[in-house]
Amino acid sequence: MTLFAAVAVLALLLTRWGVEHWLGWLNERHVHAHAGAVPEAFREVVDEATYRKSVDYTLARSRFGKIADAFDTMLLIIVLFSGVLPWAFGIAMTHLGSSIWAMAAFLFAVGMAVSLPGLPFDWYAQFKLEDRFGFNTTTMKTWLLDRVKGFVLAALLGLPLLALVLKIIAWAGASWWLWAWGAVLTFQFLLMLIAPALIMPLFNKFTPLAEGALRERLFALARRTGFPTRSIDVMDGSKRSRHSNAFFTGFGRFRKIVLFDTLMAQLSEPELEAVLAHEIGHYKKRHIVKMLGASALGLLLAFAALAWLARQDWLYRAFGFAPPDSFAPASIMPVLLLFALLADTVSFWLSPLMNLWSRRFEYEADAYAHDVMTEAQPLIGALRKLNEKNLSNLTPHPLYSGFYYSHPTLLERERAMGLG
Ligand SMILES: [Zn+2]
Repeated sequence: MTLFAAVAVLALLLTRWGVEHWLGWLNERHVHAHAGAVPEAFREVVDEATYRKSVDYTLARSRFGKIADAFDTMLLIIVLFSGVLPWAFGIAMTHLGSSIWAMAAFLFAVGMAVSLPGLPFDWYAQFKLEDRFGFNTTTMKTWLLDRVKGFVLAALLGLPLLALVLKIIAWAGASWWLWAWGAVLTFQFLLMLIAPALIMPLFNKFTPLAEGALRERLFALARRTGFPTRSIDVMDGSKRSRHSNAFFTGFGRFRKIVLFDTLMAQLSEPELEAVLAHEIGHYKKRHIVKMLGASALGLLLAFAALAWLARQDWLYRAFGFAPPDSFAPASIMPVLLLFALLADTVSFWLSPLMNLWSRRFEYEADAYAHDVMTEAQPLIGALRKLNEKNLSNLTPHPLYSGFYYSHPTLLERERAMGLG
């Protein structure tokens, strides 16, 4: 069982990498096959030069993604199978002791150590790849500051949460995972409440939309649809990138609609209204609540699995740890560690399902916007411009977009709205 567990984890890691690589290859081939001329369906969307650029951008990102995926897989295999984890755990236990805070600090430190080697990739993606296609506006100072702020936030929020979960394991006995689930869920909810007011402003500047025709138009839409909002904010997305977007965030009194300044520069007033109508559609169709429910359920299953795995001696042995002699936090630490490192590899296989679901929501929000605007043209105009300006891949392989895309492709959305 011990050997089997190690082989199974290795197989899981390699299969994921293989599937990522294969999907990437399939997609590149598909893009190449359509690269000769602008496909019929997009003649009105992009000109020849922009289309060519979007093909180059897609292929450059795909090649970079393949290198990054291979690196991530190799790194994880080294971390899991080199024996460095039991070695580091032994040192931490000897020097830091087995107090709750010491163990939380150890888990946090491992998480940070594993993410450090990926930093040069982040840097390259921003300052080489994005820059080459004219998207990057981030300065080195902003980039470094973002990382420092992210680290401080992770420590301030993550360390206490880790300590709380470990404390619950020590207190609650066999049913710890239910209590821990409740604690993490509450934490996530509070975080979502405070994020728009306290966390997001640490990274971006939000200014209320200036008085004028556009503001009148958008608030009129909000009133017409019965969407309770106090503010529509403009975010300085241009501080980091020329990519454009819009979203809405928060609950109840804290709810707010955010438009990127880059988006406002690209779209006409009716198009911006259509984008807002789409966002309101997400709210009206209760998509956020449904997504939260699903993620709460997923978290519950994850905790149940974690509690079961923590009792399996073979899992400890498979990665060079001693099996637990009790159900104290210190004894089951190795499984917490393994779980944290492998959670991504498992959830990867669930992501196509989540994306399928998310795409259904996008169609519903589009239909809502179509309805409220009484015509499809403003939203289609907005989507076309977004695809053009962001150099989106207009011809992804269906398997690739089916697996990775949280939003339907431009063509799929146009067809759903009765065009194309
Ligand atoms: Zn949407």
